[in-house]
Amino acid sequence: MRYYVLDRGDPLSVELSQQFHKLAEQRGFELDAESPEIVVSIGGDGTMLHAFHTFIDRIPDLAFVGVHTGHLGFYADWKADEIPKLIDLMCGIGDPKIMKPRIVKYPLVQLEIHKKSGTASFIALNEFTLKGVDGTLVAQVDINDVTFEMFRGDGICISTPSGSTAYNKSVGGAMVHPSIDALQIAEIASINNRIFRTLGSPLLLPKHHHCDIFSSKDQRLLLTVDHNNFQIDDLISVRCQVAEQKVSFARYRPFPFWNRVRDAFLG
Ligand code: NAD
Repeated sequence: MRYYVLDRGDPLSVELSQQFHKLAEQRGFELDAESPEIVVSIGGDGTMLHAFHTFIDRIPDLAFVGVHTGHLGFYADWKADEIPKLIDLMCGIGDPKIMKPRIVKYPLVQLEIHKKSGTASFIALNEFTLKGVDGTLVAQVDINDVTFEMFRGDGICISTPSGSTAYNKSVGGAMVHPSIDALQIAEIASINNRIFRTLGSPLLLPKHHHCDIFSSKDQRLLLTVDHNNFQIDDLISVRCQVAEQKVSFARYRPFPFWNRVRDAFLG
C-alpha cells in the first residue's frame, strides 16, 4: 500500500507520525509523497483540511484517514493510542468483517473566481466565505442565472455538507448529512431593514444548480477557502456549485455523522 502521513507538527502528532512510519515499514507499506493511495492526517480537523489541499490534484485517486491528537474531530476518528490497531486493520488483520475499508465519499464545493485580472478556481472541503475587508459586503446573489437578492452584510458562507458543522453552524446554518449532494448558502450578519432585504435563512442548493455572487461596488474582499485566505481587490463574480468530484475517506470501522454531531455539540 502506498501511503503518506501529514501531521500537525506538535510533539504528540510528530511522535505518532513516527510510530506510524515505523509500523508501516514493518508491514511493507510504501511511503509515497507523490501518488499515495491512503493519506493519514494526524492532528485535528485543521490538519485534514491541510492534507486535503496538499493533495487537491489527486483527490479522485486517494482516500483519507484521520487520527486526532486533541478532541474528537469531524474528519478524524482514530485516537492517539490506536495507531497499531489502525495499521492492523489497514493490513487486513483483525476483524474479518472489516478487512476492507468502506470508502465513504463526501461532496465538495467548487468555485470559479472571475476577477478583472483573471480567473481562478478552487475546491473546498468545508466552505468558502466572501467578506468585506473594509466593512459591509455588497453583492448581488443570482441562483441559476436569475437574480435572487442584493446582499449587504458581513459576508456569505457557502458550505459543503461535511463543512456544515464548522463555520456554517456558527452562522446559524443547518447540519446536512454528507450523503446529500448539496451546498448551503448562509448569511453572515446580513443587514435587514425597510430598505435592505435578504432572505435571512440559510438555503440548500442541489447538485446541478449554481449560484453567482457579483461584487456590486469597488470593494476589497476577503475570500476564504477552508483554512486559506485570499484578498481580492478586483472581483467581478464568484460562481459556486457542488463539485463533480468527491473526497473519499477510508473507514475501517463505523463513524456515523450524527454520532459525531451529538458527541461534538451535546457531549
Ligand atoms: P481553527 O484552528 O480556528 O479551527 C476552527 C475550529 O473548527 C476547530 O475547532 C476545528 O476542529 C473546527 N472544524 C474544522 N472543520 C470542522 C468541521 N468540518 N466540522 C466541525 N468543526 C470543524 O482553524 P483551522 O484549523 O484553520 O480550520 C479552518 C476552519 O475553521 C474553516 O474551514 C472554518 O470552518 C472554521 N472557522 C470557523 C469559524 C467560526 O465558527 N466562527 C470562523 C473561522 C473559521
